[in-house]
Amino acid sequence: MMKLNIVCIPGDGIGPEIVKQAKAVLDRVAAVYGHEIAYKDVLMGGASIDVHGIPLTDEAIADAKAADAVLMGSIGGDTSKSPWYQLPPEKRPEAGLLKIRKALNLFANLRPAILYQELADACPLRQSVRKDGFDMMIMRELTGGLYFGERRTVTEDGVRKAVDTLVYSEEEIRRIAIKGFDIARKRRKKVTSVDKANVLDSSRLWRSVVEEVAKEYPDVVLEHMLVDNCAMQLVKDPAQFDVILTENMFGDILSDEASMVTGSIGMLASASLNDTKFGLYEPSHGSAPDIAGCDIANPIATILSAAMMLRYSFDLDEEADAIERAVKAVLKENWRTADIMSEGCRQVGCSEMGRLITEHLEEKE
Ligand code: NAD
Repeated sequence: MMKLNIVCIPGDGIGPEIVKQAKAVLDRVAAVYGHEIAYKDVLMGGASIDVHGIPLTDEAIADAKAADAVLMGSIGGDTSKSPWYQLPPEKRPEAGLLKIRKALNLFANLRPAILYQELADACPLRQSVRKDGFDMMIMRELTGGLYFGERRTVTEDGVRKAVDTLVYSEEEIRRIAIKGFDIARKRRKKVTSVDKANVLDSSRLWRSVVEEVAKEYPDVVLEHMLVDNCAMQLVKDPAQFDVILTENMFGDILSDEASMVTGSIGMLASASLNDTKFGLYEPSHGSAPDIAGCDIANPIATILSAAMMLRYSFDLDEEADAIERAVKAVLKENWRTADIMSEGCRQVGCSEMGRLITEHLEEKE
């Protein structure tokens, strides 16, 4: 029996609808496996602006810090219509997201890219390339590198010049590498470390620190790949990858490429972790204001994010497996939300999709 203290951030748009379904799934898992869950709801994004005038309060951060993990829906509104976007940038909904990531020191971003056989038609790759599908985890360093280095734009002799700096310390590399190898141990035990070591010093340091860490994980296979080759391999033979471990900017680009290759935005989960077991779990998609309140959003990305939470923050692998199996079973029975609908399938809304997945969790296998 485990007691799980979870902060929920439903957020804006479809956020509250999809988080409701993920909570129902977690409650069912807790009932079947004998755990106890205590939730605390916290406001963030537009919902917090409406009540407190700012996208994230210090009390909300304190609540998140006191929890074991955070489950989030999505934040933000229609950027061309919502009054939230008349505010200065630091008071807009997305500022809350940056603030919570920083406050919780979430340096490791995990984005699984899985091609479900049932949704193979959504994959833009032809059958001979996607073969029997793929299941990879992109691990991106989130708080260092080019996006956080010093930058400036100067004019010299009438010519504008811009400089960005890419800095990584060995500690920053080591802590994400350790996470990467730990996660590979929960999967197929292979790490592909991606860098540009033929050109960049930061990449050469990356490679050597990753090799040092790999010595502690003799059961995990390590390979190195240059980022330009990795971009090609993702569309040439995606099944070769298990964990892709990479720095901030390379990970930003490669994780978007990998998610496009799955073809289904409503299915993509994500996690951001710090150096404890704590993590923030959220779907990769946004708050979809165009379909908010219509009960047609796909809750699966959020439900799979909740499964990641059980696996990575609580080491409840069996329970996480059960959720992933339930999702696959529902897809196999041809139930679909509108975004993944195809001919011959049966269309359901957000709450019905959540209920169907919950129903498959009735029994412990
Ligand atoms: P979006 O991901 O919200 O929507 C893109 C398209 O995908 C829309 O047509 C939407 O209806 C559809 N879609 C997204 N999720 C879906 C789901 N679960 N089921 C069915 N359809 C789904 O991206 P956007 O429109 O560019 O952004 C909308 C708002 O979300 C903006 O305010 C943006 O800043 C915010 N956003 C927040 C996060 C976050 O909270 N981490 C991430 C991305 C975007």
